[in-house]
Amino acid sequence: MNHLPSIITGRFAPSPTGALHTGSLVAAVGSWLMAKNTGGRWLLRIDDLDSPRQVPGMVDDILATLESFGLLWDGEIAWQSRNIEAYCATFEELQKLGLVYPCGCSRKEIALSASAPHHDDDCIPYPGTCRNGLRPGAAVRSWRVRVTDEEVCFDDLRRGQVCQNLASYCGDFGLRRGDGGFAYQLAVVVDDHLTGVSQVVRGDDLLGSTPRQVYLQSLLGLQQPGYCHLPLVTGPGGVKLSKRDNLVSQHLGNWTGREGRLLLSVLRFLGQEPPQCLVGASCGEILEWGAKYFDATRIPLAGGELCY
Ligand code: GLU
Repeated sequence: MNHLPSIITGRFAPSPTGALHTGSLVAAVGSWLMAKNTGGRWLLRIDDLDSPRQVPGMVDDILATLESFGLLWDGEIAWQSRNIEAYCATFEELQKLGLVYPCGCSRKEIALSASAPHHDDDCIPYPGTCRNGLRPGAAVRSWRVRVTDEEVCFDDLRRGQVCQNLASYCGDFGLRRGDGGFAYQLAVVVDDHLTGVSQVVRGDDLLGSTPRQVYLQSLLGLQQPGYCHLPLVTGPGGVKLSKRDNLVSQHLGNWTGREGRLLLSVLRFLGQEPPQCLVGASCGEILEWGAKYFDATRIPLAGGELCY
């Protein structure tokens, strides 16, 4: 059981792989409001570890979008690409615990050998092929951490207790690639810890990876932040939004001059009831109202289309 401190340090952590869309805006607004509701800070981190997928100019685009919605961050922006030393140190700490081993399997081999069904995220359950040593002559493709065959549970503010058996969900998972690059699961745990984040608010699409992060926190003896996974915005007919699709209304650039209207829609999507007098108000006024009256118990369980 974790207890949320009364003053929350929240964060928003976009990856510069595409422009923010309405789903990202829900995560940004939700985390901003929940931190500011307690008089806390809202940090911004750029998750720029995955360099091949990054789009040039995207960081500036993301910052300009956040500013246009009045979502101003506190302090300096954190960059994952500038925090490699800290990831190295944590990786070594886990190695010293005897929990990390090199793996020579390719994604294709894992997909072929996995008997369990795949989940709708990055994780194909790893069957443990290299657990007891690399095949002779095999190159190291990744470094994995051992998991145990038991449930990892955490309390989510919206969903209540969430439990997952890591062994069957993803198996021993990757912390580092063979080329030295660090995995999101490791980086996010280190970053949130080092920047003093006490509450992680993000989309439900990341719910499945949270138990891996909670597991790493427990191995490293780190304080577990509070978690709140927000409902997902879908396109018409429930289709998943992606950075690659072309749903014009979901692109925030198309809302220039009407940001306040979209903010009100986001508040309603999060179950809040902004008063009629806020129609036509500035983003600052809408966010101020939201921060004052935000009620996390009203966030609905179901996601869906954003109505505007
Ligand atoms: N960078 C991740 C993304 O854009 C989010 C990371 C997080 O919130 O933990 O999907």
